[in-house]
Amino acid sequence: MKTRPEDLHQRLEALKEVLRRAGVKLTHQRLEIFREAAGSGDHPDAETIYKGVRERIPPVSLDTVYRTLWLFLDLGLISTLGPRDRVRFDANTRPHHHFICKTCGRTRDFYSDALDRLKTPDAVKTLGHVETARLELRGVCHRCSKTAKGKRA
Ligand code: ZN
Ligand code: MN
Repeated sequence: MKTRPEDLHQRLEALKEVLRRAGVKLTHQRLEIFREAAGSGDHPDAETIYKGVRERIPPVSLDTVYRTLWLFLDLGLISTLGPRDRVRFDANTRPHHHFICKTCGRTRDFYSDALDRLKTPDAVKTLGHVETARLELRGVCHRCSKTAKGKRA
């Protein structure tokens, strides 16, 4: 799934602004790595981003892609999800939640004012101070349930 062009444009503008303020040079490589991460709505891992970037700028290494993604993470331009050894990247900095398909593993963004307004439960207050909240809803996506129905028929 591709990011909507207007969202991608907004993310690229944010990249330029954040790098400029941090005094980090916007190299062609950094721009292309960010474009690859921000252009995908699929929460790609570093290897997927690497493969996409390599098609456009061949001399890039996986190590560079990782280092650049950690830089973006430090600058708050992306967030991570999943376990450390299979970390994936999320370039959507707008508050949002995730729907995860347990069959195909796809993680999709959705927005909900109602969920954003949820009160922090008291049980969490005893654990620490909450800075951000993201809900993870799990189920079977329409595509996978259609495929399952097709197999049964
Ligand atoms: Zn699915
Ligand atoms: Mn997301």
